[in-house]
Amino acid sequence: MTSPIRALIYDCGNTLLRTRGSFVELCEMVASRHGHRLDPVALERALPHTATIWYRNTEMYTADHSARAGWSEHYADALAPLLALPREEAVDLGGAIYDWYTRAEQWEPYPEVEAALAEGKRRGLIQGVLSDWGSDLLPILSAHGLTRYLDFVVVSAVIGLAKPGAEIFAEALQRAGVSAAEALYVGDTYVADILGARAAGIRGVLLDREGMAPLVDCPVIARLGDVFALVEGR
Ligand SMILES: [Mg+2]
Repeated sequence: MTSPIRALIYDCGNTLLRTRGSFVELCEMVASRHGHRLDPVALERALPHTATIWYRNTEMYTADHSARAGWSEHYADALAPLLALPREEAVDLGGAIYDWYTRAEQWEPYPEVEAALAEGKRRGLIQGVLSDWGSDLLPILSAHGLTRYLDFVVVSAVIGLAKPGAEIFAEALQRAGVSAAEALYVGDTYVADILGARAAGIRGVLLDREGMAPLVDCPVIARLGDVFALVEGR
C-alpha cells in the first residue's frame, strides 16, 4: 500500500511564477539607460541561441553572486555581438538586466496558482517551495501574497545547494517533516525537477501547461490544480 500524500512541494519559476511583460522590451529599456540602442528584432533572433543555458548550469544558483554572474554572462552572450560591446561592458549590462528580475513586479503568479495553493491549504496539506533562485525569492513570493499558503520556502542561494542534487530535496522533506513517500514535487522541467526529486525518493509530477512534453516516465499535469487527483491516488 502506498503512503498517503501529506506534502506538496513546488518548483517556482514557470511553475508558480512567470515573468511579467516583454523580456525584449526590458532589455531595450536597460540598454537605453546605459546609452545603447538595442534592435529588438535582432535580440529576438539571438535569444534561442542563448536560451540553452537555462538548466545546464544549476550550480550557479547555490549563491546570489554566482547566480548573478551566470545570468550576466548568459545575457552578455547575446548582447556583446548585437551591440558590438567589449565583453566586460556586455556583462555589466547583463547584470543590470538580472537585477530587474530580483524585483517582485517583474514576476506574476500564473492565474490558477493562488486557487490551487488555497485548495492545498484547505485540504490540510503541508505546502512548500523548493527553488533554484536567489535570496530575492522570499520577498517576491510574499509580495504576490503566496507565502500565506506556504509552510516553508527552500531557496538554493540561501542554503548553498541546487537541483537536481538530492540534498536540496532532502532539505525540503526535512522542512516538511514528511518522508519522501509522503510528498509530491511539482515542477516544469524534467531533469532538474523530476530527476532531482526522484534522486531523493520523491515522486515528481511534470507540469506541462503548453502540452509540449514528450512521453515521460512520470505523471504529467496540465494545470497545477490537477495535482489533487494524484494526491487522492487517482
Ligand atoms: Mg521551473
